[in-house]
Amino acid sequence: MTRVVVLGGGIAGLAAAFRRASTGETIVLEAGPRAGGSIRTIREDGFTLECGPNTLRTSEAAERLIRDLGLEGEAVAADGKAPRWIVRGGSPRAVVPGPAALFNKVFTLKGKLRLLKEPFVARRPASLDDESVHSFFARRFGEEAALYGAGPMVSGVYAGDPHALSIRSAFPRLWDAEGASGSVIRGLLRKKEKEGKSAGGGGGKGGGAHGGRSGDPAPARHRARTLTFSGGLFTLIETLLSRLNERPGFRIETNAAAVSVEGPLPSPGPRWRVRAADGRAVDADVLVSTLAGPQAARLFGNVLTRSAVALAAVPSSPVTVVLAAYPSPASPADAPRGFGGLIPQVEGFRSLGILYPASLFTGRAPAGFVLTTSFLGGALDRALAGAPDADLLAVAGSEVARFFPRLGPPSRSWIVRWPEAIPQLPLGHHRTLAALDADLAALEAMAPGSLHVTSGFRDGIALGERIARGEALGEAL
Ligand SMILES: Cc1cc2nc3c(=O)[nH]c(=O)nc-3n(C[C@H](O)[C@H](O)[C@H](O)COP(=O)(O)OP(=O)(O)OC[C@H]3O[C@@H](n4cnc5c(N)ncnc54)[C@H](O)[C@@H]3O)c2cc1C
Repeated sequence: MTRVVVLGGGIAGLAAAFRRASTGETIVLEAGPRAGGSIRTIREDGFTLECGPNTLRTSEAAERLIRDLGLEGEAVAADGKAPRWIVRGGSPRAVVPGPAALFNKVFTLKGKLRLLKEPFVARRPASLDDESVHSFFARRFGEEAALYGAGPMVSGVYAGDPHALSIRSAFPRLWDAEGASGSVIRGLLRKKEKEGKSAGGGGGKGGGAHGGRSGDPAPARHRARTLTFSGGLFTLIETLLSRLNERPGFRIETNAAAVSVEGPLPSPGPRWRVRAADGRAVDADVLVSTLAGPQAARLFGNVLTRSAVALAAVPSSPVTVVLAAYPSPASPADAPRGFGGLIPQVEGFRSLGILYPASLFTGRAPAGFVLTTSFLGGALDRALAGAPDADLLAVAGSEVARFFPRLGPPSRSWIVRWPEAIPQLPLGHHRTLAALDADLAALEAMAPGSLHVTSGFRDGIALGERIARGEALGEAL
């Protein structure tokens, strides 16, 4: 009987445990007091509030998981027509993704003309093997697109610094599109066409809205939805846990951080010995790590000899979420409507973005309330993420009031801090990943199938991707 030990009880770890193909013992060690990782939902007095992710943009794997967990009836789809906005000149401007973006009011005419020139911009030199998201957008689409397109995208997905984040690792579909076709627009169109053909002309949207990757498993036939559940995204975690707990041989231990790992140990016998925070040893035939780069480097430094130093240095951005419930204003025109939006750094606000959960999804707040979710901090404003509650409430409240002056003060607020929210992939991160692949290949030769690694720093941060990667790994166990 093979014993699999999963490090980390977030969505990726639980999806891997759920899809484990072989029988045997599965133990999930989770450092925190509860499973779910970044997924956490507050249910209080009729409010259903997301502390971390708000939306699941479905990959094919996520759709299958929802079906297999019997959650289809609980899925709440986002209002597909809910407008998103980007702030320009201090006011929110509605944006439409894709080619229709040419008609939005975020870009000036000059900026739009520059966007249209992208297919005629020279391909990057062969010597350029990575660049920042800002520099890539400025080179391909112009400075305005970098400031008002790429900047908000980086804030919204990574809470990152567009001048520091690697385009090649953070948005590989864009990087690869230029590499394949000499133009991002041409490359994406060709890819879409190819996907359409390989799916028998089925069409559909590939890629995650939240940081799609080149290897994104969302195939062309799949029609992605943006959704939550009636009880919030934590429903996914609860349902996974309740199904896993029915299986003999499964257990999850919370408050059980892995503090050291020994291995690979000689065969026969368990290949790894994990030491938990309370000093206990947990032996494993197979280890699955879903941990962030620095944690993985600390635990596996002796086997990840080529990659550990670089992995240890992959930083995470801090994000603090301020949720606020306001009494509904007398006129619906004064209430937040739509999805919410993002604020380019050059606009001088301190919120990275503000979502309107009660407008996007039904059932988020009792009648008579509207909701806002402000994201503060990120890689460019680390001090604000760690500021006292009163300062956070003041910043979030005053910036919501700039867009909705008739809303009045909130009747309730909640603050959730994520000191290490999202991995920041630095320039040259692809070399770290190649070194990690080489380390894992060497280990595979020594102790076949005994260590698997999936994490946002390696294979995508969007929930749809985390589910797909966790599942693929589980199926291989
Ligand atoms: C504020 C915020 C908003 C987001 N919004 C969205 C969104 O709208 N849509 C979207 O698709 N994605 C969003 N994301 C990203 C997405 O939520 C994450 O990428 C995803 O949940 C990560 O899942 P995971 O299982 O890979 O890792 P995690 O959820 O980070 O799980 C890893 C687990 O490992 C545990 N752990 C750490 N160290 C140890 C140790 N030594 N031993 C044992 N356990 C350990 C942690 O406690 C954690 O529970 C958001 C993230 C944040 C923080």
